[in-house]
Amino acid sequence: MKNDFIKIKPPLWILLELTHKCPLECNYCYNQLDFALTKDVMKKEDWFRVMEEAREMGAVQLGISGGEPLLNKDIVQIIKKANDLKFYTNLITSGVGGEKGIIKKLKNAGLKTVQLGIQSHDKETMTLITNNKSAYDKKLEIAKEIKDEGLQLIINTCITRENIHQIADIIDFAEELGANYLEIANIQYYGWALKNVDSLLPTKEQILQAKKTCDYYREKKTNMKVFFVVPDYFEERPKPCMNGWGTTFLTINPDGNALPCNTANTLPLHFPNVKDFSIKEIWNDSEAFNFFRGDAWMPDPCRTCPEKEKDFGGCRCQAYALTKNMKATDPVCSKSPDHDNLQKLVKDSLKDMNKKPLYRNRKNSLIFINKE
Ligand code: SF4
Ligand code: SF4
Repeated sequence: MKNDFIKIKPPLWILLELTHKCPLECNYCYNQLDFALTKDVMKKEDWFRVMEEAREMGAVQLGISGGEPLLNKDIVQIIKKANDLKFYTNLITSGVGGEKGIIKKLKNAGLKTVQLGIQSHDKETMTLITNNKSAYDKKLEIAKEIKDEGLQLIINTCITRENIHQIADIIDFAEELGANYLEIANIQYYGWALKNVDSLLPTKEQILQAKKTCDYYREKKTNMKVFFVVPDYFEERPKPCMNGWGTTFLTINPDGNALPCNTANTLPLHFPNVKDFSIKEIWNDSEAFNFFRGDAWMPDPCRTCPEKEKDFGGCRCQAYALTKNMKATDPVCSKSPDHDNLQKLVKDSLKDMNKKPLYRNRKNSLIFINKE
């Protein structure tokens, strides 16, 4: 479907998911439940071509993620190519799974920033969340390497009911590790996180307390930048998802599928593959990328809502996950006819605060696939 009516701006930010394999099994992982089907077909040369084409269109920021991107043996050459193309490069990593000295090699290849996932200041909690006993020591080691190499260190802490009581300790810990920024992100409920919502969702009171602690630290105790991301299940309006569908972000997954955001392949749309089409064709002309551009697709209440330019009707993946209708108003919005169902989901999810989550691993992914 060619879109002749909407002015299409080029992608600015591209994210390469180098693999969906990961040594950790975080129970809040946003990756799709059927990730075990991913075949990692993209070769180094394919990634090079994707970067060249995206850069030609005007992309400037490049994220490298996964699964765990350090497991891709070509990662140094991919970063080098990105740097030669003058992308600003950001590695999003668990810190586990890379060869010794990898950070130095990546720095020499041109890497600028590392976003490192740290789930807790304490080993026991980190092991509980990641199901990996060596994660803690390896993350500490790599945090030191990042600082020794003079790279910008962003620590990302995903918050669930398993670590929300540790906010103050986590902020102190991030400061000790020398973080330039700390992002305390109450998780969004997609993929494994949605599967585990009834064992991960904190209460509203816990979130308010966590926010208070962050505010206190920002005002009185730390010069480090601390961001606090509120979970939208407790909001009345949705977030402006991806700055609007097909306006800014382009993700390429390990099988070469091009997506407007990294969870979009949960939607019943056919996403084009970079092995079949150029980035320009995909971005400008593919049916999937044009599907939610503009507002013609919106049903009411969004269609006639004065706020539609602000939030674009919310997140399509969330709308589909919660209503099975990908055009529905995001149920987070209090104007959505499904808002009451979301509130019921929240209430039900908080019934058993001791419920244990499932780990994100191949075995559980295969169980999910075979049940589908
Ligand atoms: S969230 Fe955890 S399991 Fe998922 S890709 Fe990241 S490190 Fe791996
Ligand atoms: S009705 Fe739609 S456009 Fe209006 S605030 Fe809610 S989600 Fe946003």
